[in-house]
Amino acid sequence: MGCVRPRGQSPDPPEVVRHRSNCLRTSVGVVIVKDKHIIATGYNGTPAGTKNCIDGGCKRCLQRSQNILKENERKDLCVCVHSEQNAILQSAYHGVSTKGAMLYSTVAPCLQCAKAIINAGIAMVIFGEKHQNTLGTDLLTSARVKVIHSSEKA
Ligand SMILES: [Zn+2]
Ligand SMILES: [Zn+2]
Ligand SMILES: [Zn+2]
Repeated sequence: MGCVRPRGQSPDPPEVVRHRSNCLRTSVGVVIVKDKHIIATGYNGTPAGTKNCIDGGCKRCLQRSQNILKENERKDLCVCVHSEQNAILQSAYHGVSTKGAMLYSTVAPCLQCAKAIINAGIAMVIFGEKHQNTLGTDLLTSARVKVIHSSEKA
């Protein structure tokens, strides 16, 4: 729980969180900020209490890393939780409201995470890299969640 200064200062909180990921796939870091304080962090990986993805906890991620599966093939079998959803769930776990909060992510949210972000009442999303498609950011925009690509800010 620290004070956050998002503008051009290092270390970049979502970038730090990203390195806690246990997923074989791209590691993503998320920080949820409310009233200038971090209320939750999230990184991608298998659900709490299950074997880490890097230790073979997700068969789908494992098969994808071995190129047995193609990029979007059998994504429904993945048991890893996305960073955005983990951060929102951590807020729920600790009983902290995400209403009106800002979500910082190293990568733009996917469609599934965008749905969760909207209904968690998050008001603004600031992301680093673009996602492979704009389905998530388009949905956020249509729900009047403010979306900012961090290279476009300041
Ligand atoms: Zn994984
Ligand atoms: Zn997986
Ligand atoms: Zn996602």
